[in-house]
Amino acid sequence: MEEFKQSLLNIETLGHVDHGKTTLTKALTGIWADRHSESIKRNMTIKLGYADTTIRKCPKCGKYTIEKRCTECNEETEPVIRVAFLDAPGHETLMATAIAGASIIDAALFVIAANEPCPMPQTREHMMIIKLLGIKNVIIVQTKVDIVGREQALKHYQQIKEFIKGSPIENAPIIPVVPTLGINVDKVLERIASIPIPKRDTEADPLMYVVRSFDVNKPGAKIESLSGGVIGGIIVKGKFKKGDDIEIRPGISITNPGKKEKVWKEAVTKIVSMNSGAGELEEAIAGGMIGISTNIDPSFVKADTMVGNLVGKVGKLPEVKRSIKIKYTSINRPDIPNKSFAEGEVLILGIGTATVVAHVAKAKKDMLEVSLNNPVCMDSSSKIAVLRNVASRWKLVGYAALA
Ligand code: ZN
Repeated sequence: MEEFKQSLLNIETLGHVDHGKTTLTKALTGIWADRHSESIKRNMTIKLGYADTTIRKCPKCGKYTIEKRCTECNEETEPVIRVAFLDAPGHETLMATAIAGASIIDAALFVIAANEPCPMPQTREHMMIIKLLGIKNVIIVQTKVDIVGREQALKHYQQIKEFIKGSPIENAPIIPVVPTLGINVDKVLERIASIPIPKRDTEADPLMYVVRSFDVNKPGAKIESLSGGVIGGIIVKGKFKKGDDIEIRPGISITNPGKKEKVWKEAVTKIVSMNSGAGELEEAIAGGMIGISTNIDPSFVKADTMVGNLVGKVGKLPEVKRSIKIKYTSINRPDIPNKSFAEGEVLILGIGTATVVAHVAKAKKDMLEVSLNNPVCMDSSSKIAVLRNVASRWKLVGYAALA
């Protein structure tokens, strides 16, 4: 059987920050570079954690694994599907990313730890996100069962059952897992492998959300041997081919000597090559993350500066906006007072993979006109995550759509 070259399913890991998501993802993928440490620093850039893996099955004993040889019977395993796991640091950014990046999420792992009563407030809020976004394919993973003992684990299992009763994920499987010992990791893989691959429009004009960007050259490399900047992203529709002319919007920011405001210019370039975690691609379709090597000067894309951009065919992307009119919907968090917006109030908006500081120019009930510190290029149908400053902390308070 042929190996998969690209992942076909994006799975968001939801769950309370201390509930063991990282350890679980490590067990499911074998890798997990911790990309979270500096996640929200200047510019409030949200960096998505990302790891992909091929789920395999043993033809002899039927066990699901990520190993090329079955750990039970040493038989050579066969690839079933390649999937990608996405994670965001912290609670507020995770929720904001889930809303703003809804178009890239196909399924969710909902991690709930057995050493705390269910639901904890954050768990309740993740359920709200699942309902809001209509995520249908959810697998509940009960973690930390090994530290509470059998009786408490069973009691907690019942609490989860009660919690999901009457919700859209009432029938979601609940799998107790001990990632460090490999207990039931195969069951989670098996469940993931059974999630239907979403039908995506492969004939549409291609559209990719940029999730990261980097310079692959070693410091001090000779000019003639330099490679162009690499952009990593998730294609939501259509397909790209090697050699395609592409446009990136809003593009590259250029400092304008003597002027305070930065200027943005769309970048037009060529796909020099494409890569997924599993190898080089001639063609990339909607699904998990891919990296595109371009002709862009690598200094423009280094250190994730292109995150939040959209990539498409030349002339096919939406126009770039510096101010938007939005219709706001509160998510009514019990811990946050629902007060009206004031003119001049500073907000943080999550739009696709972009995180933008915005100022309220006009506010009339739930209709807001906001000016953006950085321009954005956005798909008109996408949801916008809205964060407000509540007692000196950025809190997700609601979502919005273009009015
Ligand atoms: Zn086997």
